[in-house]
Amino acid sequence: MAEKRDYYEVLGVSKGASDSEIKSAYRKLAKKYHPDMNPGDKEAEAKFKEASEAYAVLSDADKRRQYDQFGHAAFDGGAGGAGGFDFGGMDMGDIFGDIFGDFFGGGRSRGQSNGPMKGQNIRTSVRITFEEACFGVDKEIDVTLKEECATCHGTGAKPGTSPETCKKCGGKGQVVFTQQSLFGVVRNVQACPDCHGTGKIIKERCSDCSGSGYISKRKKISVSIPAGIDNGQCVRIRDKGEPGVNGGQRGDLLVEVVVSRHPIFQRQDRDIFSTAPITFAQAALGGDVRIKTVDGEVIYTVKPGTQTNTRVRLRNKGVPSLRNKQVRGDHYVTLVVEVPTKMNSEQKELLEAFDKAMYGEKNEDETPSDEKKHGKKGPFGRKKK
Ligand SMILES: [Zn+2]
Ligand SMILES: [Zn+2]
Repeated sequence: MAEKRDYYEVLGVSKGASDSEIKSAYRKLAKKYHPDMNPGDKEAEAKFKEASEAYAVLSDADKRRQYDQFGHAAFDGGAGGAGGFDFGGMDMGDIFGDIFGDFFGGGRSRGQSNGPMKGQNIRTSVRITFEEACFGVDKEIDVTLKEECATCHGTGAKPGTSPETCKKCGGKGQVVFTQQSLFGVVRNVQACPDCHGTGKIIKERCSDCSGSGYISKRKKISVSIPAGIDNGQCVRIRDKGEPGVNGGQRGDLLVEVVVSRHPIFQRQDRDIFSTAPITFAQAALGGDVRIKTVDGEVIYTVKPGTQTNTRVRLRNKGVPSLRNKQVRGDHYVTLVVEVPTKMNSEQKELLEAFDKAMYGEKNEDETPSDEKKHGKKGPFGRKKK
């Protein structure tokens, strides 16, 4: 019989390797040599067993200490040497569950123990306006929450009776069954089928909660939505989720924020974008225009000769930062020169007179082919380059 290899050597890690180094080394080997990946390959199977054995010892603090002290002799005692390793003493389901997930396809589920367990989170959503997202808002939302049943005080048993300890699992909430596998006997742990993991059996159910111990109630919960929140982000409200099990903490309520579209403003991170109309005269002569921002209207002084689609920046008129609402983004406004569409005859005459004064008499007779000769053109015959 060949000498047994050192467990650290098997996994290819140093003596001082951390738990996570050991786990990741084993994960690699186990994936490589797993019998399902190497059907019929005896050598791979042997390597897989060897690595599993090494991992079983080195991943367990007590066993690792013994191994470090005594080497393989630490485990040779009752197993009769010959490479036989007693897998019975460890929960292989847990190791493989951790590493392979559902690799073995065995009915494994988390949280089968009957210790305190945090309740599930509840998800819901709330719709707010663009401005509310900018500056924060308190909202009331309706949530159905499970409350401890007042009649049975959460035991689920009819008043005057009390739940009995489950006989099948002895109150542990889980049952262990063993399974023969290619590398030995594997212990599997499952939630007890009789008591569903609670460890208790209710003989006579509380009629108010039908034995569940909880009563669902519609509750109003106020949500404080912070300034600067964006569409799709969540607000977490602690302890407003599903009740915990066996004295565990309640889960959380996660409120997704849905921000309604704004007719004028668009948002990108902390900046706001919008367009604002200005008249031809304002664009040409300059002047004050009113611009809508999330802080209300502001007066902006347009420079003489402003072209259409000029973008101006209103500093600190954007959305506050979620972390610090004193820090704000900017608001970018695109100024769009409006061309009048309905004019009366007087207005038309004035505009024609203006055009003549500006660009000369020749306007009306000109054909597009003349454009090149006369560099400047009146607005009526003008062609964009
Ligand atoms: Zn009850
Ligand atoms: Zn049970």
